[in-house]
Amino acid sequence: MNKLTQPVTVLKGIGKQKAAELHQLSIDTVEDLLTHYPYRYEDRANLKPISQLSSDQLETVLGRVEAINEGFTKNGRHMLRVTLANNSGRIVLMWFNQRYLKQRFALNQRLIASGKILSGTTKQMMVTDFEILSETDDISQFARLVPVHRASEKLSAKWIRQTIEQALRAYGGDIIDFLPQPLCQRYRLLPRSEAIAEIHFPSSWAKLNMARYRLVIEEFTLMLLELSQRVTPNKSVKGIAHQPTERLTNQFIRQLPFKLTNAQRKVILEIKSDMEKPTAMHRLVQGDVGSGKTMVALYTLLKAAEGGYQSALMAPTEILAEQHYLTLRQILAPLGIEPILLKGSLNTKEKTSALEKLANGDSQIIIGTHALIQKNVNFCNLGAIVIDEQHRFGVRDRLALENKGSQPDVLVMTATPIPRSLALTLYGDLELSVIDELPPGRKPIITYHITEKKRQSMYGFILQQLQAGHQVYVVCPMIEESAKIDLENAQALHQKLATEIFPQYQVGLLHGKMTATAKAEIMESFRTAHLQILVSTTVIEVGVDVPNANMMVIENAERFGLAQLHQLRGRVGRGDVQSYCILVSEAKAEDTQRRMAIMTKSNDGFAIAEEDLAIRGPGEILGIRQSGLPDFKIADLVQDIKLLERSKLLAADILNDGLENTTYDALRLEIQRRYQQKIISGIN
Ligand code: ADP
Ligand code: MG
Repeated sequence: MNKLTQPVTVLKGIGKQKAAELHQLSIDTVEDLLTHYPYRYEDRANLKPISQLSSDQLETVLGRVEAINEGFTKNGRHMLRVTLANNSGRIVLMWFNQRYLKQRFALNQRLIASGKILSGTTKQMMVTDFEILSETDDISQFARLVPVHRASEKLSAKWIRQTIEQALRAYGGDIIDFLPQPLCQRYRLLPRSEAIAEIHFPSSWAKLNMARYRLVIEEFTLMLLELSQRVTPNKSVKGIAHQPTERLTNQFIRQLPFKLTNAQRKVILEIKSDMEKPTAMHRLVQGDVGSGKTMVALYTLLKAAEGGYQSALMAPTEILAEQHYLTLRQILAPLGIEPILLKGSLNTKEKTSALEKLANGDSQIIIGTHALIQKNVNFCNLGAIVIDEQHRFGVRDRLALENKGSQPDVLVMTATPIPRSLALTLYGDLELSVIDELPPGRKPIITYHITEKKRQSMYGFILQQLQAGHQVYVVCPMIEESAKIDLENAQALHQKLATEIFPQYQVGLLHGKMTATAKAEIMESFRTAHLQILVSTTVIEVGVDVPNANMMVIENAERFGLAQLHQLRGRVGRGDVQSYCILVSEAKAEDTQRRMAIMTKSNDGFAIAEEDLAIRGPGEILGIRQSGLPDFKIADLVQDIKLLERSKLLAADILNDGLENTTYDALRLEIQRRYQQKIISGIN
């Protein structure tokens, strides 16, 4: 038996409660814990004197608590201030909206804290991590490279670190290496158990680099091997030769209220040619936000329908599926086709009826969420599928939908600008079409970056837009780690806008914790302009299309990456009126300033992606989620591109030997385990 797959409760000090809290971090087994890699490290061996800390930099200080104060900022945010002193001076540690932390501190307590140093006369730090040290904690034990693990509100980084330490002591010896030793030697890879121990508790920067190297190579290699095992939709595999009649598709194009752009037309022709061939289409359509991908999708669906086949459009969220359904229903009505919508939140009766229509072929065009790939969904003759916002799905999801038919034509759509070389690795099995033109009359979205000082005048500007009959999005950040606080902030802002600032208008609130039905209702009210202002967390990020909304405010804009800001901003500028985006951010850090500057300067997704790459040394641009591949725990597709090349060699060596070779028994098992699990978690 593999001891590592045991539940975390085998560890000392972990009962039901802690296990449930760990589950929130997707940690269920000892192995999950051991592969919960740190996201950064602090070099506590070199703590600086307080006088030498630099503004705007991430720093770490150690000292004793001298004072604890609570207060409120001008705009009502709770502020906790802890003064920390050591023999080199004193510094004020600050937290916003984390009232509950106060009780953790006591005077004279020893504390180590890390965070950004703010500029100003007195030294201040916005704390990101801290740790309370007991009198007996040996400081030399802390004077080393200290890992920082992703934590949660309930579980501190310190607790997680100690638990991982315990797990390593108890089960480190059970870590097996599924890469045979000769290969490890040839590629200079640390043994797996050593790499895992060093990644958590590095004995030096050099060892840390080696550990990371091993784990990244391992992760890439497993992915490449898995890709190689996949029944790649062979280009010559027999598929459906759809009819060249263009009966419905022509009618659809004729009755559109606008002319297709040349780019849309070009891509549609590529799709037409693919679909009429007797081999299956596998095509990726890349087009910036607002470029009109939905019409291309609709063409594909209709093309299948006119030859008597069923077709399906899968979207990542209910809001988006709903929106597509409404758009398509309207356009399809004159053609005598009634699309149906399949989503998780249907009641049993609705679901049964929808499933029946799919299975017996009564419904030709089906729109849905992940619900489409559930086991109980059967199609009668699925001939084409379209996957919208492909980066939100795993490759497995795509395959699962594909397998609901027999060699259906496949179109996937994405707004994520992916460098071509990367696209080839990721989507080697797809042909690429690019919609490189926006519909005519689009005015670039005018974007401003403002600080709190300008808030009142921003409200004045919003008022003008509202008076002109337009609608406004206000986006608040929502991240997993501080979801509760973020939600409270969004609610507070909603309340303030609704009662104080714009009492004469209807203000709605949309957030991730609402039920699907409640979200749909709010979206519908906004779409039909019963609401003029929509305060929302980032749930509106993908695909939403309300052309009358011409203004977007993004609060705490520093908390979003460039790609995400661009996606968000793409919700406005969809009609022919002038649109605006206002980025509100106080953050002074240099990279924030640069991000804001790019956003105010450019409207072009590709240009923005490139700048992003330049600023950050890739990292988060292609958040793993966006790559359409199963999550990586440590590898980064852009930053580690060189290691990807190296892994290709390693994978090729293995495939040369033959993966079925008994030397690779453990490896095969691991591939199966990793990717099998993804399928299961991807579907529910
Ligand atoms: P995205 O590529 O972001 O999915 P959509 O398909 O949602 O973009 O289209 C954005 C908006 O542009 C929609 O309101 C759509 O009706 C409109 N649109 C699409 N194609 C054209 C066109 N050729 N001319 C004018 N408007 C168009
Ligand atoms: Mg779209």
